[in-house]
Amino acid sequence: MNMKERQLAMVIDLNKCIGCQNCTVTCKTMWTNSSGKDYMYWNNVETIPGNGYPKNWQDMGGGFDADGSLKNGKIPNMSKEYGIPWEYNHDEIMSAKEFKPKTEPTWGVNWDEEKGGGEFPKDNYFFNLPRICNHCSKPSCLSACPHDAIFKRQKDGIVLVDMDLCQGCRYCIAACPYKKIYFNPQFSKSEKCNFCFPLIEEGLPPLCASDCSGRARFVGYLDDIEGQVYKLIKKYKVALPLRPDFGVEPNVYYIPPFLSPPKFDKEGNIIENSDRIRTSELVKLFGEEIYDAIKTLKNEKRDGNSELLKMLVASQDKDRFRFKNKDEANINAL
Ligand code: SF4
Ligand code: SF4
Ligand code: SF4
Repeated sequence: MNMKERQLAMVIDLNKCIGCQNCTVTCKTMWTNSSGKDYMYWNNVETIPGNGYPKNWQDMGGGFDADGSLKNGKIPNMSKEYGIPWEYNHDEIMSAKEFKPKTEPTWGVNWDEEKGGGEFPKDNYFFNLPRICNHCSKPSCLSACPHDAIFKRQKDGIVLVDMDLCQGCRYCIAACPYKKIYFNPQFSKSEKCNFCFPLIEEGLPPLCASDCSGRARFVGYLDDIEGQVYKLIKKYKVALPLRPDFGVEPNVYYIPPFLSPPKFDKEGNIIENSDRIRTSELVKLFGEEIYDAIKTLKNEKRDGNSELLKMLVASQDKDRFRFKNKDEANINAL
């Protein structure tokens, strides 16, 4: 990255995500509420453990091998892995005793929402995982495109598709290991999250971040050493990228869920210092760094003076969203 290049990043605190789907709805309403985009969720919030959206995306390949070559990936199947969006007959909803969707659903976004894992009431658990395009530093979608239709902006690292150049060949979809680029069959083009760049250019946060009811999201530049995004990722090292093993250097980071309630023993007594959320689940998602991150989060002194904990409380939007420098943050316009 040369001196003029900058990278925006998002941090999402999984302890504060309540799965309300405000982010999903605001993004859908703003960006994917038109022809050919019914099944697209540039932002989705899935349940862990669960199969996610598209179904079993983590096992679909894509990204880079250790030697830097593109890894084979698959394009998700529309009916089995995205699920064809279903419609209701709205007249029937008001009058019939029983009504069914016009087509039988097979899979869809939030299909396994809050199902979770473990055994009730002993150790059942789940947490929410919001996902957008990671605006990767090494975007495999870009590398796979034979028409140079995908580009990464130097000034903020946002990855975009040039609709005039896209030929709809879908190599990018196979190559993205997060399956965060979608094919629009209506226009034969690939489409993806644009990090709400028209808002960013006005000094405002992306909609999924500003509309987050849990105040779980932070947005800022990775090189802004006074910013909270920098501090959470680089100074305290408590925000980690999702599936770093995919090799694309994602720029959405997560504070791991470290506040899960304790388990019960078979007599129903609390097992002290036990966590319901399985560390093995977290290691798969965020790598071995999870151990140090959780240690730091748990050991931080709760005396009201911790910079880290104050940041995570996130009481000030002007600090949570910071795009230029402190003086230029345009949060009053929200
Ligand atoms: S998450 Fe996927 S679509 Fe987004 S930049 Fe990375 S490789 Fe491309
Ligand atoms: S950054 Fe904007 S376009 Fe991307 S998921 Fe969030 S709301 Fe949607
Ligand atoms: S709006 Fe915020 S709290 Fe609600 S689901 Fe999205 S990330 Fe989670």
